[in-house]
Amino acid sequence: MPKRHDIRSLMRPHLLGIQSYEGVDPPELLAQRAGIPVERIVKLNGNENPYGPSPKVVQALAEYTAYHIYPDPQQRRVRAALAEYVGTTPDRVVAGVGSDELIDLLMRLFLEPGDGVVLCTPTFGMYASFAQVNGARLMEVPRDQGFDIDVPVVRKAAEQGAKMTFIASPNNPTGNLASEATVRELLETGMLVVVDEAYYEFAGSTVASLVGEYSNLVVLRTLSKWAGLASLRLGYGIMDTAVAERMMTVKPPYNITIASELALFASLADKELLLSRVRALTGAREELFQQLAEFKELTPVPSRANFILFRGPEGKGEWLYEELANRGVFVRYYGAPPLQDSIRTSVGLPEENRALIGALQEIFS
Ligand code: PMP
Repeated sequence: MPKRHDIRSLMRPHLLGIQSYEGVDPPELLAQRAGIPVERIVKLNGNENPYGPSPKVVQALAEYTAYHIYPDPQQRRVRAALAEYVGTTPDRVVAGVGSDELIDLLMRLFLEPGDGVVLCTPTFGMYASFAQVNGARLMEVPRDQGFDIDVPVVRKAAEQGAKMTFIASPNNPTGNLASEATVRELLETGMLVVVDEAYYEFAGSTVASLVGEYSNLVVLRTLSKWAGLASLRLGYGIMDTAVAERMMTVKPPYNITIASELALFASLADKELLLSRVRALTGAREELFQQLAEFKELTPVPSRANFILFRGPEGKGEWLYEELANRGVFVRYYGAPPLQDSIRTSVGLPEENRALIGALQEIFS
């Protein structure tokens, strides 16, 4: 009989204390919590695409039969299709299981335990989460009042040896872009600068063309948002060929499933439909912003993404979140400074946006 001992003592010590990333709960659980049928919940907490995938995706997945054959570990067709979409060459592109996997892979490729990672907070929580898993040292640089990046402080962190930084543009949850001038300033530090353009299609602004100029730039993108493939998990990075070559070597061989592959091709073949939906969502975003701004109790932040952050009455953010949840409207709540009393809502279908505004009118009446 093997001796009984604390199995945790065999685990890597730096992983014992960390918290898991708080992802969004699935619709069934939200419905159960609100005590309403799942068809009635208004899910605005995940920045998902309410129009869903292209019908061509559903058809392609239903018609395919060779699911017993492993996918291409070199991602040849995937890299070629993405390169064409982006306007670059396949040797600069790597696909991942969502852009999340690429965040982790970049850290695994570049970071030794204890290496510094600069995060311009508040920002997407996954960077800190993966940085902790990878044993990195977090160097937080708070954004200014308008949520812009404090470039001099980031530069100082780079001088102190920080190895990489993640810049979401548009930033999640604040919705604002990092300007090209700011990105160039960060690139000049020599650090690896990962510009996360998960919401690129909603913003229409990119720094991807700088990849040829700076070997220390990686641009991340995803099919989760504009193409409505969040659950099929397909992200990609655009990067220097030397970085791409090593990323291809360290990634798990079969990371991209044939289902994600097929969904990618079908989405790109139906780009016009998907981009018309993106335009509908950006139009709805502007309308929703105006409607939120009309509440004297709320302060929305202008957004270039498919979501809007707004602040509720002081000390009442969590109450507001609960009141919305009780009415079947699920959004994301932020309680920690500098986002205390803040809520992030995705832009939904017209009827979902109306349900949000209707619930807010009822709550504040
Ligand atoms: N980056 C940002 C800024 C995001 O907001 C998200 C999604 N919440 C992701 C990356 C992850 O996207 P994916 O589904 O491709 O992993």
